[in-house]
Amino acid sequence: MIPKLSEVSPIQAKYLSFIERLKASGFSGDTNPDYANRVVLSTDNSIYQVLPQGVIFPKNTQDIQLLVQLSNQEEFYDIVLSPRGGGTGTNGQSLTDGLVIDLSKHMNRILEINAEEGWARVEAGVVKDQLNKAIKPHGLFFAPELSTSNRATIGGMINTDASGQGSVMYGKTRDHVLSLKTVLLDGHLLESSPIDNETLTNIQSGSDYSAHAHRVVDNIQKSKAQQIKETFPELNRCLTGYDLAHIRTEDGQFNMNSVLCGSEGTLGFIVEAKVNLLAIPTYAALVNIRYDSFEGSLRHARELLAAKPTSIETVDSKVLGLAKGDIIWNSVSKFFPENTGENIQGINLVEYTGNDEQEVADKIKVLTDKLDTLAKQGGSSALGYTIAMGHDNVNKLWAMRKKSVGLLGNAKGEKRPIPFVEDTAVPPENLADFIMEFRAILDSYNVQYGMFGHVDAGVLHVRPALDLKDEPQEPMIREITDKVVALTQKYNGLLWGEHGKGVRSEYAPAFFGELYPSVQQVKGAFDPRNQLNPGKIATPFELGADLLKIDAVPLRGQFDRQIPLQNRDQFQEGMYCNGNGACYNFDPNDAMCPSWKGTRDRRHSPKGRASLMREWLRGMSQQGVDTVKASKDAKDSNFLFSFLPRLKNTLAKRRGDYDFSNEVHESMMGCLACKSCVGQCPIKVDVPEFRAKFLELYYSRYLRPAKDYLIGSLEFMMPTMAIFPQPYNWLVSRSWVNHFSSKYIGLADNPKLSKLNLKKEMSRRGIRLATPLAIEALSPKDRTRAVIVVQDAFTSYFETELVLDTMETLSRLGFQAYLAPYMPNGKPLHVHGFMKAFNRTARKNLDMLQSLAFYGLPFIGIDPSMTLTYRSEYTKAFSDSRQIPNIQLMQEWLMKKSAHLIKQPLMCDNSTYHLMTHCTEKTNAEASIQDWQKVYSILGLELKVENVGCCGMAGTYGHETANKETSKTIYDLSWKEKVTDPGLLGKLVATGYSCRSQAKRFDDVAIPHPVQAILKHLREARVE
Ligand SMILES: Cc1cc2nc3c(=O)[nH]c(=O)nc-3n(C[C@H](O)[C@H](O)[C@H](O)COP(=O)(O)OP(=O)(O)OC[C@H]3O[C@@H](n4cnc5c(N)ncnc54)[C@H](O)[C@@H]3O)c2cc1C
Ligand code: SF4
Ligand code: SF4
Repeated sequence: MIPKLSEVSPIQAKYLSFIERLKASGFSGDTNPDYANRVVLSTDNSIYQVLPQGVIFPKNTQDIQLLVQLSNQEEFYDIVLSPRGGGTGTNGQSLTDGLVIDLSKHMNRILEINAEEGWARVEAGVVKDQLNKAIKPHGLFFAPELSTSNRATIGGMINTDASGQGSVMYGKTRDHVLSLKTVLLDGHLLESSPIDNETLTNIQSGSDYSAHAHRVVDNIQKSKAQQIKETFPELNRCLTGYDLAHIRTEDGQFNMNSVLCGSEGTLGFIVEAKVNLLAIPTYAALVNIRYDSFEGSLRHARELLAAKPTSIETVDSKVLGLAKGDIIWNSVSKFFPENTGENIQGINLVEYTGNDEQEVADKIKVLTDKLDTLAKQGGSSALGYTIAMGHDNVNKLWAMRKKSVGLLGNAKGEKRPIPFVEDTAVPPENLADFIMEFRAILDSYNVQYGMFGHVDAGVLHVRPALDLKDEPQEPMIREITDKVVALTQKYNGLLWGEHGKGVRSEYAPAFFGELYPSVQQVKGAFDPRNQLNPGKIATPFELGADLLKIDAVPLRGQFDRQIPLQNRDQFQEGMYCNGNGACYNFDPNDAMCPSWKGTRDRRHSPKGRASLMREWLRGMSQQGVDTVKASKDAKDSNFLFSFLPRLKNTLAKRRGDYDFSNEVHESMMGCLACKSCVGQCPIKVDVPEFRAKFLELYYSRYLRPAKDYLIGSLEFMMPTMAIFPQPYNWLVSRSWVNHFSSKYIGLADNPKLSKLNLKKEMSRRGIRLATPLAIEALSPKDRTRAVIVVQDAFTSYFETELVLDTMETLSRLGFQAYLAPYMPNGKPLHVHGFMKAFNRTARKNLDMLQSLAFYGLPFIGIDPSMTLTYRSEYTKAFSDSRQIPNIQLMQEWLMKKSAHLIKQPLMCDNSTYHLMTHCTEKTNAEASIQDWQKVYSILGLELKVENVGCCGMAGTYGHETANKETSKTIYDLSWKEKVTDPGLLGKLVATGYSCRSQAKRFDDVAIPHPVQAILKHLREARVE
């Protein structure tokens, strides 16, 4: 039995008192001093890990004003506050050992869109893609681009002055800020936009922080003009944050936003922004050029610039190779043909946009003519090119490029690419030489790395691969950074071309030079006591406090290395999460991650769960627990002998006895086990896998709820229950039974069993059971058309009709279909962490399947989630010891038989259907979605794939009382609109049992399986 984790880092008394006083002051947001929230917000995407004292989620501007006013009281002068948005910073910008003030949870409303004048007013927590989605119908977009656009907030973008691909054309975030509302530390709400001298004088005459700040900044601008000119480099990626060079606009107005943009939460809380919107260019195209060397692609970039593109992005072979191994490659592979003999070492993606198709085509022609001439002349590094026309294709390629950073983190082994010198900027003409020297530095340390970047802006992204769990590698952070700083200065560049300074602020004095004291004066004017995100960019001149140092902030590796190797290995599915935050994806139509979208609680995200898992493992390790042995003991333990101690612990838990494991458990129980993280996380973090291992250990200490046993035994009970479905169905349709089950068992709206009995129907309809004898008797010719359909409990007993329809469809299509005998698959056991029972069940199932596999016939499954279990859970559990038969999704196999299908005289009537995909299938077998489309097309039907997220059911998750509300919220996010769309009535098809039952449950809409729509046409079109 695992021990209790009662000792966690306590909150300092002054912070507890601050939080209590805040609650009493009328604060309407959430105050979370619990350890789980603190752990989850102790990391961003950087190499650092800093435990905050608490996490505060303000609901509105007044909440933030209350917060700062309290911090302004003498007893709280040393309270530290750090604003946080999406938490995607790469250099610890939002990390703090004080209070995290997270504006992303509640302050995320789009307040106003003025399409005519081309601007929007938003709260700081609005995500960039959220804004772009809202303004797209107006033909507008918020132009500054960044790879984390689906999770970074506008507040975070402003505070890091974010930019990325396309910055040469569109500039940085600051270039699109029209006005800001900022809560200053004295509680004053500063509204800033360019102002004339008269207004400036008025403001300066006041006595609050704003007046003082305006006096200080104005004075610096006037008195240090020459120094400022000499210090701030004239780069596309200028020295941003406290930007003294742009205090005055070109027409002489005073603009405090130049100081605030890029200030990394060190000057005030930006609560609202009015931002400039641009018209979406009607036409977009990308020329994708392949090179035989990375240097060749870099050196060619300057020439490419002459062809006047909107942007140029470079990717090296390492990043390209990683993209090839990811789900994303399916959508872009056609643009990178593998011609014989070609060894692609770099690519340039050259973008053209415009509102005139001919103009875009002409520009592309100028470039491709040049490329063709070069190719004829020979000797060029360019190997060839493809052209991607239209926004759809262009967006797919940009999505691949955006994912590159995350993909870099997925290198195999312990040394993983990490950010610390990842965003240098130099004048573009210096870039190739700069990179060659940069590479020499990295090569001298013998580290691996991948590179990509915005060559047009001179920005390079590189993440050297280090293992910071290995202490001797730590000093390389300092050594490499120092050398890269010197190199960027040699080439008139900057260390922080894009991602901001954060912990790297110790180098700020080197880059600000003699102006650094002026920068400190600015900080002092806004934050005289150094309470706001201290140690970053500048400290108040008068205080003389220290800046953070890159080797003096705790590293994540320092915590992780406290976990013994065997425990890390056992939970490796969560160990490598690098915090890039791709799982915080805002888009409701994206499958990742439904529990995060349904709760907006970061503890309920893959990153949150992975962070909690690591901290839990660390806690266990500190107690000397070998989790591998503990798992074995849990499997071997006797239910009866362990009952009393577990009961005792459970009662203690109910009495409020603290155990960190309970906080981890709460987070794990919110997971739907939909596996979208497995498919979509660039690092392939697999929450369901480590969650199952955790639950097994957790329940060695605590009693399981009764519902877990019911769910776990469902697959075993169903064959018996299905003999007499009426009594069960009668019971579950009584409202009092539902009430009782929901309240006392924890399961609500239990589904009814099918009225049809599969066994009886099989013999009535002449459906053949797959037995070794029956298969052996097949002639060689019949074997080529034979297939075995593997049953799963949900389809066979809740949707028997679908099994029968599948068999009929296959037969009408000219196949000889056999139904494998029913065996429990074990997935519900795995989901709930009954690992011993899962292994036993899966083994028996494998015995049965292997006895049939001997004859070499293909296997297919009907339900995607149950079928994909063979590829993931089974493979993970048994790949070392047993051969796992290949159980294909139905459409994958049908596509392999496309030659046979084409030969069938089919006459379907071109009807169009709309496919609602199951998230496990969409994220873990993405190519199979297109297979359905191809099968439909061969059969004379059209299938459009609807863009939807998760349905919120995921097996039994949605039926668990504790999850019912979240399940409905998730369903409402993307499914409801489509299911209830009158235009789609009768045209929807859905592959997942869960999804179909959810649509029936919440909207009383019956959606058929894609095979049932096909059958309808086959029945109408052909007579056998
Ligand atoms: C994989 C990956 C790719 C990236 N690619 C890019 C890229 O292409 N371009 C780019 O520019 N950056 C990139 N970044 C860095 C990061 O995404 C950006 O810096 C982004 O702007 C941060 O936004 P956020 O909402 O996550 O802010 P956070 O990380 O939460 O905060 C960033 C800073 O802003 C401050 N802050 C946040 N909100 C407020 C507020 N309301 N008021 C005051 N201060 C606030 C915080 O204190 C902190 O100092 C990337 C990061 C990752 C992980
Ligand atoms: S779970 Fe995956 S997507 Fe989420 S932060 Fe970790 S590595 Fe990134
Ligand atoms: S399995 Fe699904 S719900 Fe669970 S963490 Fe992964 S994406 Fe989120």
